Amino acid sequence: MTLADTSFRPGELEVREDGTGNLIGSRCNSCGAHFFPVRRACSGCLSADLETVALSTEGTLYTFSIVRQSLPNFEVPYALGYVDLPEGLRIMGQIGGCELDEIRIGMAMVLSLEPFGQDQHHNPLTGYRFTPVEAQDD
Ligand SMILES: [Zn+2]
Repeated sequence: MTLADTSFRPGELEVREDGTGNLIGSRCNSCGAHFFPVRRACSGCLSADLETVALSTEGTLYTFSIVRQSLPNFEVPYALGYVDLPEGLRIMGQIGGCELDEIRIGMAMVLSLEPFGQDQHHNPLTGYRFTPVEAQDD
């Protein structure tokens, strides 16, 4: 399986050739805590024995907000939320794949990769957002 770092923020996302992927984080080998993005020391137990791990792609929507005003390049309105992963991480990301009025706290969400512009060499970059698990069927 080939992995490419085409993440719009280098080192945060692992993208496979089939277009699937996952966020990359750190796991503390001393106390088991997880972190995102990758870090070199554990803020829980101060250990430097951390390994880089693939994070779960599914989680639960903790909370969200509808953004109605943003920078000129961003089309509004859109939803921004926090998704809780089983590792105990709370990840912020855009919520998509459904109508804004269908979004509910507690929904099962899945990570979704999508094009996110280009780098300075015109290589396509990949970003991520979270979509409701039910929306994966269409
Ligand atoms: Zn630790």
